[in-house]
Amino acid sequence: MAKIGINIATGSLQQKEMIVGIDLGTTNSLVAIIHPESRKPVVLKEHDGNALVPSVIHFGESGIITIGNEARDNLITEPQNTIFSVKRLMGKSYNDVREYADFFTYKVIDDDTESLVKVQVGDKFYSPIDLSALILKELKTRAEHILKTSVTKAVITVPAYFNDAQRQATRDAGRLAGLDVLRIVNEPTAASLAYGLGLDKEEVKTIAVYDLGGGTFDISVLRISGGIFEVLSTHGDTYLGGDDFDRAIVQHWSASLGITKDELSLHKNLLQELRMIAEKAKKYLSSNNSFTGTVAGQEVELTKRELEQLAQTFIEKTIQCCQHALKDAQLTTAGIDEIIMVGGSTRMPLVKKMVTDFFGKHVHDTLNPDEVVALGAAVQADILAGNNKDFLLLDITPLSLGIETMGGLMDVLIPRNSKIPSRAARQYTTQKDGQGQIRISVYQGERDLVKDNRKLAEFSLKGIPGMPAGFPKVEISFLVNADGILVVKAKELRSGVEQSIEVKPQYGLTDEEVERMLLDSITHAREDMQMRSLTEARTEASQLLYMTRQFIEKNSSFITAAELCDTRHGMFELENLLENGDKDQVQAAIEKLNEISRPFAERLMDQAIAVAMKGKQL
Ligand code: AMP
Repeated sequence: MAKIGINIATGSLQQKEMIVGIDLGTTNSLVAIIHPESRKPVVLKEHDGNALVPSVIHFGESGIITIGNEARDNLITEPQNTIFSVKRLMGKSYNDVREYADFFTYKVIDDDTESLVKVQVGDKFYSPIDLSALILKELKTRAEHILKTSVTKAVITVPAYFNDAQRQATRDAGRLAGLDVLRIVNEPTAASLAYGLGLDKEEVKTIAVYDLGGGTFDISVLRISGGIFEVLSTHGDTYLGGDDFDRAIVQHWSASLGITKDELSLHKNLLQELRMIAEKAKKYLSSNNSFTGTVAGQEVELTKRELEQLAQTFIEKTIQCCQHALKDAQLTTAGIDEIIMVGGSTRMPLVKKMVTDFFGKHVHDTLNPDEVVALGAAVQADILAGNNKDFLLLDITPLSLGIETMGGLMDVLIPRNSKIPSRAARQYTTQKDGQGQIRISVYQGERDLVKDNRKLAEFSLKGIPGMPAGFPKVEISFLVNADGILVVKAKELRSGVEQSIEVKPQYGLTDEEVERMLLDSITHAREDMQMRSLTEARTEASQLLYMTRQFIEKNSSFITAAELCDTRHGMFELENLLENGDKDQVQAAIEKLNEISRPFAERLMDQAIAVAMKGKQL
């Protein structure tokens, strides 16, 4: 069986290319890859062993921009020039964020409330896309430094609840940073992939992903089936996380040290110091029972029990969100097969306990909860790179798939945006008597004429036994399996002759190419439609001419000389119009020729019936 290898998946690439997975987080970002030797996902670390890059940007006096830890050091001293939590602004208008304006210590401008927000630093304005691009560019540079190779392709994760505008903004940021963003992946999907869930195509599972970070909480319920992830529901609180625990500790200590709220807001340095020690205590108490430290020369203490009392109400809030998410997905806890823990705050034993108790099941917590999303993004990147052929590539077909029919027309079998796996079949027939083979040309694209689309493969179904034109039944079936691989099969149903090809990943289309193809189909829609109807009329005309010619050759005894003359004339007119006539002229000539041939065709029919009836009693 002939096999042709062609990539129909947007974004699949030559094997050798390194595609990175990026978790572009609200607080921290990180990059992961599949290790070329171990084939395991790993996060990229600096010399100091640090993988997390704080998603913070500092605009220095002399125009120097720093990102990460260095930038974070300026959060307190230069709040107006130090940008954090950009992710919260992605795809948002000022109206969307007005309620939280106090949260941002830098200037989020509000002159036009309907349009997308901008951030003002000095006399310059930056969109959240510009700012995210700066972070992504830094991640790209660091990755290149660590990997010692250029990095141009990436998979970037976003929260499952991100809308189209937010996803597009993330994509644009990637592009601005010089990255070809092959896929935007939902964070909970990535987390599941990191735990190997969803990699077995036979698997049908319902997964809850509990993500408690520094400032946000998300719960997502996913259904995985046939290698495809579906988000059943999401819930959460965009202002709830580990920072709340820290603030509660600060309040607790302030009360015991007799520091008032006013004093705290006056002495920003003291507040900052308290916050830092509070976070340190919180982390320490995840694996110890009591903490002692000093703040401004005074001793502070905290026990695990005390911390748990402070954190309890916040964690209860997250459990309420889980209840909402289950309700929205029309499930109970019994319907959840796996629970995955994501985000630094899930290290806290009380969080794990309350989540385990609520779902009544053990949670997945063996991977580093800060890294799990990036690791999963790397798994997805590897799949897109075609290195992991057993697993899913696509969840929808980006462009329509079809075959060429008479006159070079595109006949779509699987329309674009079909969920995969997807299957479609249609019957075709031969054009000529005794035709022993038909050629099947497979195309991808939205245009009406195949010449404007992208050819994927071509093969011939041979060995069709001699039959009159129109008699063979050739079924062409398309199957796009969960790997994004298209299998085209052609079978002549009367004889059982069959042939198939596999169109498999090897050389992909970039997002830009897909976009251009879609745009072309819109701008050319009108002319395409006219061309299609003209081509259809021409095809019909050619077939009619062929059949009429056959008919008069075989049945000359049924036709009078006058009829023959008229028919020849009608054929001549139609032939002349075939090349240069417009659709209406061709159609009119078809009608005319049909009119001429109708009387003798009917006569022949009557005769055939008379023969069939002879000797039979009614
Ligand atoms: P993320 O936004 O996912 O990076 O999570 C960061 C949050 O996790 C911060 O609030 C951290 O204080 C918190 N965190 C990190 N490590 C621990 C730990 N060992 N115990 C409790 N919370 C932690």
